[in-house]
Amino acid sequence: MSEGKKTQFVTAGRKKEWTHGVVNPPVQRASTVVFNSVAEKKHATANRTQQTLFYGRRGTETHFALQEAMTTLEGGAGCALFPCGSAAITNTILSFVGAGDHILMVDTVYEPTRDYCEQVLRKFGVETTYYDPLIGADIRELIQDNTKIIFTESPGSVTMEVQDVPAIANVAHEHDIIVMLDNTWSAGIQFDPFAHGVDISIQAATKYIVGHSDVMLGTAVASEKYWPQLREHAYLMGQCVSPDDAYLALRGIRTLGVRMAQHHANSLEIAQWLAKRPEVDHVRHPGLESCPGHEFFKRDFAGGNGLFSFVLNTSCPAATTAFLDSLQHFSMGFSWGGFESLVLANEPASFKTLRTIANPNFTGTLIRIHIGLEDVQDLIADLEQGFAHYNNALHR
Ligand SMILES: *Cc1c(COP(=O)(O)O)cnc(C)c1O
Repeated sequence: MSEGKKTQFVTAGRKKEWTHGVVNPPVQRASTVVFNSVAEKKHATANRTQQTLFYGRRGTETHFALQEAMTTLEGGAGCALFPCGSAAITNTILSFVGAGDHILMVDTVYEPTRDYCEQVLRKFGVETTYYDPLIGADIRELIQDNTKIIFTESPGSVTMEVQDVPAIANVAHEHDIIVMLDNTWSAGIQFDPFAHGVDISIQAATKYIVGHSDVMLGTAVASEKYWPQLREHAYLMGQCVSPDDAYLALRGIRTLGVRMAQHHANSLEIAQWLAKRPEVDHVRHPGLESCPGHEFFKRDFAGGNGLFSFVLNTSCPAATTAFLDSLQHFSMGFSWGGFESLVLANEPASFKTLRTIANPNFTGTLIRIHIGLEDVQDLIADLEQGFAHYNNALHR
Protein backbone atom coordinates (compact mmCIF):
# COMPACT_ATOMS: atom_id res chain seq x y z
CA MET A 1 0.00 0.00 0.00
CA SER A 2 1.47 3.34 -0.97
CA GLU A 3 1.34 5.91 1.82
CA GLY A 4 0.47 9.59 1.69
CA LYS A 5 3.33 12.11 1.75
CA LYS A 6 2.69 13.23 5.34
CA THR A 7 2.74 9.63 6.51
CA GLN A 8 5.98 9.05 4.60
CA PHE A 9 7.74 11.84 6.49
CA VAL A 10 7.02 9.86 9.66
CA THR A 11 7.63 6.30 8.43
CA ALA A 12 10.39 6.60 5.80
CA GLY A 13 13.50 4.57 6.60
CA ARG A 14 12.19 3.20 9.91
CA LYS A 15 12.51 -0.52 9.12
CA LYS A 16 12.35 -2.67 12.27
CA GLU A 17 15.72 -4.26 11.48
CA TRP A 18 17.32 -0.79 11.68
CA THR A 19 15.39 0.72 14.61
CA HIS A 20 15.94 -2.27 16.95
CA GLY A 21 12.93 -1.54 19.11
CA VAL A 22 13.22 2.24 19.41
CA VAL A 23 11.61 4.96 17.32
CA ASN A 24 14.70 6.36 15.58
CA PRO A 25 17.34 4.21 13.88
CA PRO A 26 20.26 4.60 16.33
CA VAL A 27 23.63 6.07 15.41
CA GLN A 28 25.62 3.02 14.41
CA ARG A 29 29.34 3.79 14.29
CA ALA A 30 31.49 1.30 12.43
CA SER A 31 34.51 0.87 10.27
CA THR A 32 34.95 -2.87 10.76
CA VAL A 33 32.00 -5.18 10.51
CA VAL A 34 32.76 -8.57 12.07
CA PHE A 35 31.54 -11.90 10.72
CA ASN A 36 31.14 -15.00 12.85
CA SER A 37 31.48 -17.53 10.06
CA VAL A 38 32.69 -17.90 6.52
CA ALA A 39 29.07 -18.22 5.44
CA GLU A 40 28.15 -14.90 7.08
CA LYS A 41 31.07 -13.15 5.42
CA LYS A 42 30.11 -14.64 2.03
CA HIS A 43 26.54 -13.48 2.51
CA ALA A 44 27.66 -9.95 3.37
CA THR A 45 29.99 -9.83 0.37
CA ALA A 46 27.30 -10.99 -2.02
CA ASN A 47 24.80 -8.45 -0.64
CA ARG A 48 27.11 -5.53 0.08
CA THR A 49 25.29 -3.23 -2.30
CA GLN A 50 21.86 -4.24 -0.94
CA GLN A 51 21.88 -2.55 2.48
CA THR A 52 23.72 -5.37 4.24
CA LEU A 53 26.50 -4.54 6.72
CA PHE A 54 29.85 -5.18 5.02
CA TYR A 55 32.40 -2.43 5.78
CA GLY A 56 31.94 1.09 7.16
CA ARG A 57 32.52 2.80 3.85
CA ARG A 58 29.54 0.92 2.39
CA GLY A 59 27.40 2.40 5.18
CA THR A 60 25.81 1.31 8.43
CA GLU A 61 22.17 0.88 9.35
CA THR A 62 21.93 4.60 10.13
CA HIS A 63 23.00 5.35 6.54
CA PHE A 64 20.74 2.68 5.08
CA ALA A 65 17.79 4.25 6.89
CA LEU A 66 18.54 7.71 5.48
CA GLN A 67 19.13 6.32 1.97
CA GLU A 68 15.85 4.45 2.13
CA ALA A 69 14.05 7.57 3.39
CA MET A 70 15.41 9.64 0.49
CA THR A 71 14.24 7.17 -2.14
CA THR A 72 10.86 7.02 -0.43
CA LEU A 73 10.57 10.82 -0.66
CA GLU A 74 12.10 11.41 -4.09
CA GLY A 75 11.55 8.07 -5.84
CA GLY A 76 14.36 6.43 -7.79
CA ALA A 77 16.26 3.21 -7.21
CA GLY A 78 18.91 4.29 -4.71
CA CYS A 79 20.54 7.20 -2.89
CA ALA A 80 24.25 7.95 -2.59
CA LEU A 81 25.39 10.04 0.38
CA PHE A 82 28.11 12.71 0.22
CA PRO A 83 29.81 14.93 2.80
CA CYS A 84 28.14 18.06 1.36
CA GLY A 85 25.94 19.20 -1.50
CA SER A 86 28.88 20.25 -3.64
CA ALA A 87 30.48 16.82 -3.26
CA ALA A 88 27.17 15.27 -4.35
CA ILE A 89 27.14 17.43 -7.48
CA THR A 90 30.79 17.03 -8.48
CA ASN A 91 31.01 13.29 -7.82
CA THR A 92 27.72 12.58 -9.56
CA ILE A 93 28.84 14.48 -12.65
CA LEU A 94 32.25 12.78 -12.54
CA SER A 95 30.58 9.36 -12.34
CA PHE A 96 29.19 9.84 -15.85
CA VAL A 97 31.74 11.83 -17.89
CA GLY A 98 35.14 11.10 -19.40
CA ALA A 99 37.68 12.91 -21.56
CA GLY A 100 36.08 14.32 -24.71
CA ASP A 101 32.58 14.52 -23.28
CA HIS A 102 30.35 17.59 -23.24
CA ILE A 103 27.96 18.95 -20.60
CA LEU A 104 25.07 21.34 -21.11
CA MET A 105 24.89 23.39 -17.93
CA VAL A 106 22.13 25.83 -16.97
CA ASP A 107 23.61 29.33 -16.86
CA THR A 108 21.91 30.11 -13.54
CA VAL A 109 23.61 27.19 -11.78
CA TYR A 110 24.98 27.41 -8.24
CA GLU A 111 28.32 29.18 -8.60
CA PRO A 112 30.61 26.39 -7.26
CA THR A 113 29.08 23.97 -9.80
CA ARG A 114 30.12 26.34 -12.60
CA ASP A 115 33.59 26.76 -11.07
CA TYR A 116 33.98 22.96 -10.91
CA CYS A 117 33.23 22.66 -14.63
CA GLU A 118 35.64 25.46 -15.50
CA GLN A 119 38.50 24.73 -13.12
CA VAL A 120 38.40 20.95 -12.72
CA LEU A 121 36.51 19.23 -15.54
CA ARG A 122 38.05 21.39 -18.26
CA LYS A 123 41.50 20.14 -17.19
CA PHE A 124 40.40 16.61 -18.03
CA GLY A 125 38.99 17.49 -21.44
CA VAL A 126 35.34 17.76 -20.46
CA GLU A 127 33.74 20.80 -22.10
CA THR A 128 30.78 22.74 -20.73
CA THR A 129 28.31 24.93 -22.61
CA TYR A 130 25.96 27.17 -20.62
CA TYR A 131 22.34 27.50 -21.69
CA ASP A 132 19.51 29.92 -20.95
CA PRO A 133 17.40 28.65 -18.01
CA LEU A 134 14.23 29.38 -20.02
CA ILE A 135 15.41 27.53 -23.14
CA GLY A 136 12.92 24.63 -22.88
CA ALA A 137 12.82 22.27 -25.89
CA ASP A 138 15.11 24.60 -27.89
CA ILE A 139 17.97 22.96 -26.01
CA ARG A 140 17.86 20.56 -28.97
CA GLU A 141 19.99 23.04 -30.93
CA LEU A 142 22.84 22.92 -28.39
CA ILE A 143 23.20 19.14 -28.27
CA GLN A 144 26.45 17.76 -29.67
CA ASP A 145 27.38 14.17 -30.53
CA ASN A 146 29.44 14.04 -27.33
CA THR A 147 26.84 15.61 -24.99
CA LYS A 148 26.59 13.31 -21.97
CA ILE A 149 24.73 15.33 -19.35
CA ILE A 150 22.15 18.10 -19.30
CA PHE A 151 22.37 19.67 -15.88
CA THR A 152 19.36 21.60 -14.56
CA GLU A 153 18.75 23.61 -11.42
CA SER A 154 15.28 24.97 -10.85
CA PRO A 155 14.70 27.64 -9.72
CA GLY A 156 18.10 29.05 -10.65
CA SER A 157 20.54 30.25 -8.01
CA VAL A 158 19.97 33.83 -6.85
CA THR A 159 17.86 34.99 -9.83
CA MET A 160 15.24 32.20 -9.40
CA GLU A 161 14.31 31.36 -13.02
CA VAL A 162 12.08 28.25 -13.02
CA GLN A 163 12.97 25.77 -15.78
CA ASP A 164 10.75 23.70 -18.07
CA VAL A 165 12.45 20.50 -16.92
CA PRO A 166 10.02 18.06 -18.65
CA ALA A 167 10.58 19.73 -22.06
CA ILE A 168 14.36 19.54 -21.60
CA ALA A 169 14.17 15.93 -20.40
CA ASN A 170 12.12 14.87 -23.44
CA VAL A 171 14.77 16.19 -25.80
CA ALA A 172 17.60 14.72 -23.69
CA HIS A 173 16.10 11.25 -23.72
CA GLU A 174 15.75 11.25 -27.51
CA HIS A 175 19.57 11.40 -27.48
CA ASP A 176 20.15 9.12 -24.46
CA ILE A 177 21.56 12.08 -22.49
CA ILE A 178 21.41 11.97 -18.68
CA VAL A 179 19.28 14.66 -17.03
CA MET A 180 20.60 15.77 -13.65
CA LEU A 181 18.75 18.20 -11.40
CA ASP A 182 20.01 20.20 -8.45
CA ASN A 183 16.75 19.72 -6.53
CA THR A 184 17.87 21.49 -3.36
CA TRP A 185 15.27 24.27 -3.56
CA SER A 186 12.34 21.83 -3.59
CA ALA A 187 13.97 19.63 -0.91
CA GLY A 188 12.99 16.77 -3.21
CA ILE A 189 9.36 17.06 -2.15
CA GLN A 190 7.88 20.14 -3.85
CA PHE A 191 9.15 18.99 -7.25
CA ASP A 192 8.86 15.28 -8.05
CA PRO A 193 12.04 14.71 -10.10
CA PHE A 194 11.34 11.30 -11.64
CA ALA A 195 7.76 12.20 -12.64
CA HIS A 196 9.27 15.11 -14.64
CA GLY A 197 11.92 13.16 -16.52
CA VAL A 198 14.94 13.66 -14.27
CA ASP A 199 17.41 10.74 -14.11
CA ILE A 200 19.41 11.84 -11.07
CA SER A 201 18.16 14.24 -8.41
CA ILE A 202 20.87 15.89 -6.33
CA GLN A 203 20.44 17.86 -3.13
CA ALA A 204 22.42 19.87 -0.66
CA ALA A 205 20.72 18.11 2.26
CA THR A 206 22.62 20.75 4.22
CA LYS A 207 19.60 22.97 3.49
CA TYR A 208 16.02 21.81 4.13
CA ILE A 209 16.54 18.07 4.70
CA VAL A 210 18.72 18.77 7.72
CA GLY A 211 16.80 22.00 8.28
CA HIS A 212 18.62 23.28 11.36
CA SER A 213 21.82 24.83 9.93
CA ASP A 214 24.07 22.40 11.76
CA VAL A 215 25.15 19.67 9.30
CA MET A 216 26.85 19.53 5.89
CA LEU A 217 25.43 16.70 3.75
CA GLY A 218 24.69 15.84 0.12
CA THR A 219 22.44 13.28 -1.55
CA ALA A 220 22.01 11.95 -5.09
CA VAL A 221 19.02 9.78 -5.91
CA ALA A 222 19.21 7.93 -9.23
CA SER A 223 16.78 6.03 -11.45
CA GLU A 224 17.12 2.26 -11.97
CA LYS A 225 19.16 2.84 -15.12
CA TYR A 226 21.84 5.01 -13.51
CA TRP A 227 21.87 3.84 -9.89
CA PRO A 228 24.46 1.00 -10.23
CA GLN A 229 27.05 3.27 -11.87
CA LEU A 230 26.44 6.15 -9.46
CA ARG A 231 26.64 3.82 -6.45
CA GLU A 232 29.89 2.17 -7.58
CA HIS A 233 31.63 5.38 -8.69
CA ALA A 234 30.71 7.25 -5.52
CA TYR A 235 32.03 4.28 -3.55
CA LEU A 236 35.26 4.14 -5.57
CA MET A 237 35.79 7.85 -5.04
CA GLY A 238 35.56 7.21 -1.30
CA GLN A 239 32.40 9.18 -0.63
CA CYS A 240 30.90 8.52 2.77
CA VAL A 241 29.42 10.49 5.68
CA SER A 242 29.37 10.22 9.45
CA PRO A 243 26.47 8.31 11.02
CA ASP A 244 25.81 11.29 13.31
CA ASP A 245 25.17 13.51 10.29
CA ALA A 246 22.99 10.82 8.68
CA TYR A 247 21.04 10.60 11.94
CA LEU A 248 20.42 14.35 12.05
CA ALA A 249 19.30 14.38 8.42
CA LEU A 250 16.86 11.59 9.13
CA ARG A 251 15.53 13.53 12.10
CA GLY A 252 15.11 16.59 9.89
CA ILE A 253 12.92 14.60 7.50
CA ARG A 254 10.32 14.00 10.23
CA THR A 255 9.37 17.70 10.23
CA LEU A 256 10.23 18.48 6.59
CA GLY A 257 6.61 18.58 5.45
CA VAL A 258 5.37 21.01 8.08
CA ARG A 259 8.50 23.15 7.84
CA MET A 260 8.25 23.51 4.07
CA ALA A 261 4.53 24.37 4.21
CA GLN A 262 5.23 27.07 6.81
CA HIS A 263 8.31 28.45 5.01
CA HIS A 264 6.24 28.69 1.83
CA ALA A 265 3.24 30.39 3.48
CA ASN A 266 5.51 32.88 5.27
CA SER A 267 7.61 33.66 2.20
CA LEU A 268 4.59 34.13 -0.07
CA GLU A 269 3.05 36.62 2.34
CA ILE A 270 6.29 38.59 2.58
CA ALA A 271 6.85 38.42 -1.19
CA GLN A 272 3.40 39.93 -1.75
CA TRP A 273 4.15 42.65 0.79
CA LEU A 274 7.49 43.42 -0.88
CA ALA A 275 5.85 43.61 -4.32
CA LYS A 276 3.88 46.65 -3.08
CA ARG A 277 6.90 48.48 -1.63
CA PRO A 278 7.93 51.64 -3.54
CA GLU A 279 11.64 50.70 -3.15
CA VAL A 280 11.12 47.38 -4.98
CA ASP A 281 11.27 47.01 -8.77
CA HIS A 282 10.07 43.41 -8.84
CA VAL A 283 9.97 40.24 -6.76
CA ARG A 284 11.47 36.94 -7.93
CA HIS A 285 9.42 34.47 -5.93
CA PRO A 286 8.42 31.43 -8.02
CA GLY A 287 4.89 31.72 -6.62
CA LEU A 288 4.45 35.21 -8.11
CA GLU A 289 3.88 36.03 -11.78
CA SER A 290 6.80 38.46 -11.73
CA CYS A 291 9.22 35.49 -11.45
CA PRO A 292 10.63 34.21 -14.77
CA GLY A 293 9.24 30.72 -15.38
CA HIS A 294 6.34 31.19 -12.91
CA GLU A 295 4.12 29.14 -15.29
CA PHE A 296 6.38 26.09 -14.84
CA PHE A 297 6.26 26.53 -11.08
CA LYS A 298 2.45 26.52 -11.22
CA ARG A 299 2.40 23.48 -13.49
CA ASP A 300 5.12 21.31 -11.91
CA PHE A 301 5.58 22.19 -8.22
CA ALA A 302 3.46 21.14 -5.24
CA GLY A 303 4.58 24.23 -3.32
CA GLY A 304 7.59 26.34 -2.51
CA ASN A 305 9.83 27.24 0.40
CA GLY A 306 11.33 30.27 2.11
CA LEU A 307 13.99 31.32 -0.41
CA PHE A 308 13.44 34.04 -3.00
CA SER A 309 14.88 37.31 -4.27
CA PHE A 310 13.68 40.83 -4.93
CA VAL A 311 15.23 43.60 -6.98
CA LEU A 312 15.41 47.21 -5.78
CA ASN A 313 14.78 50.18 -8.06
CA THR A 314 18.34 51.37 -7.85
CA SER A 315 21.82 50.22 -6.96
CA CYS A 316 23.15 52.28 -4.05
CA PRO A 317 25.69 50.29 -2.01
CA ALA A 318 25.57 52.73 0.94
CA ALA A 319 21.78 52.41 1.20
CA THR A 320 21.96 48.63 0.82
CA THR A 321 24.52 48.51 3.63
CA ALA A 322 22.26 50.62 5.86
CA PHE A 323 19.37 48.25 5.09
CA LEU A 324 21.36 45.07 5.81
CA ASP A 325 23.02 46.41 8.96
CA SER A 326 19.72 47.55 10.47
CA LEU A 327 17.92 44.18 10.20
CA GLN A 328 17.37 42.37 13.50
CA HIS A 329 15.76 39.11 12.40
CA PHE A 330 17.67 38.58 9.16
CA SER A 331 21.30 37.57 9.66
CA MET A 332 23.73 37.72 6.77
CA GLY A 333 24.94 34.25 5.96
CA PHE A 334 25.61 31.94 3.08
CA SER A 335 23.41 28.88 2.88
CA TRP A 336 19.70 28.70 3.75
CA GLY A 337 17.07 26.08 4.57
CA GLY A 338 17.31 26.34 8.35
CA PHE A 339 14.56 27.59 10.66
CA GLU A 340 15.98 31.13 10.71
CA SER A 341 15.70 34.10 8.35
CA LEU A 342 18.72 35.19 6.30
CA VAL A 343 19.60 37.90 3.81
CA LEU A 344 22.30 38.59 1.18
CA ALA A 345 22.72 41.34 -1.41
CA ASN A 346 24.05 41.06 -4.97
CA GLU A 347 24.99 44.15 -6.97
CA PRO A 348 24.06 43.71 -10.66
CA ALA A 349 27.75 43.95 -11.66
CA SER A 350 28.46 40.73 -9.76
CA PHE A 351 26.46 38.76 -12.34
CA LYS A 352 29.18 39.46 -14.91
CA THR A 353 31.24 36.65 -13.38
CA LEU A 354 28.25 34.51 -12.35
CA ARG A 355 26.71 34.22 -15.82
CA THR A 356 27.93 33.44 -19.30
CA ILE A 357 24.87 34.28 -21.40
CA ALA A 358 21.82 34.96 -19.22
CA ASN A 359 22.81 38.35 -17.87
CA PRO A 360 19.98 39.68 -15.75
CA ASN A 361 17.98 42.47 -17.40
CA PHE A 362 17.72 44.66 -14.31
CA THR A 363 19.94 47.37 -12.90
CA GLY A 364 18.95 47.54 -9.20
CA THR A 365 20.47 45.66 -6.28
CA LEU A 366 19.19 42.11 -5.89
CA ILE A 367 18.39 41.02 -2.34
CA ARG A 368 18.06 37.30 -1.68
CA ILE A 369 16.19 36.41 1.47
CA HIS A 370 15.40 33.22 3.27
CA ILE A 371 12.19 33.45 5.27
CA GLY A 372 12.39 31.34 8.39
CA LEU A 373 9.75 30.16 10.82
CA GLU A 374 9.45 33.40 12.82
CA ASP A 375 6.16 35.36 13.02
CA VAL A 376 5.56 36.98 9.65
CA GLN A 377 4.51 40.25 11.29
CA ASP A 378 7.86 40.50 13.10
CA LEU A 379 9.73 39.94 9.84
CA ILE A 380 7.65 42.52 7.98
CA ALA A 381 8.17 45.08 10.77
CA ASP A 382 11.90 44.38 10.56
CA LEU A 383 11.99 44.86 6.78
CA GLU A 384 9.92 48.03 7.14
CA GLN A 385 12.40 49.64 9.54
CA GLY A 386 15.17 48.35 7.25
CA PHE A 387 13.65 50.29 4.34
CA ALA A 388 13.51 53.41 6.54
CA HIS A 389 17.27 53.13 7.06
CA TYR A 390 17.66 52.40 3.34
CA ASN A 391 15.74 55.52 2.32
CA ASN A 392 17.65 57.74 4.76
CA ALA A 393 20.97 56.60 3.32
CA LEU A 394 19.65 56.87 -0.25
CA HIS A 395 18.62 60.49 0.02
CA ARG A 396 21.55 61.73 2.02
C1 LIG B 1 24.15 25.12 -0.83
C2 LIG B 1 23.92 24.61 -2.20
C3 LIG B 1 24.74 23.64 -2.75
C4 LIG B 1 25.99 23.14 -2.06
O1 LIG B 1 25.71 22.49 -0.88
P1 LIG B 1 26.85 22.38 0.27
O2 LIG B 1 26.25 21.40 1.22
O3 LIG B 1 27.01 23.75 0.81
O4 LIG B 1 28.09 21.88 -0.39
C5 LIG B 1 24.43 23.17 -4.00
N1 LIG B 1 23.37 23.62 -4.69
C6 LIG B 1 22.56 24.56 -4.19
C7 LIG B 1 21.40 25.01 -5.00
C8 LIG B 1 22.80 25.09 -2.95
O5 LIG B 1 22.01 26.03 -2.47
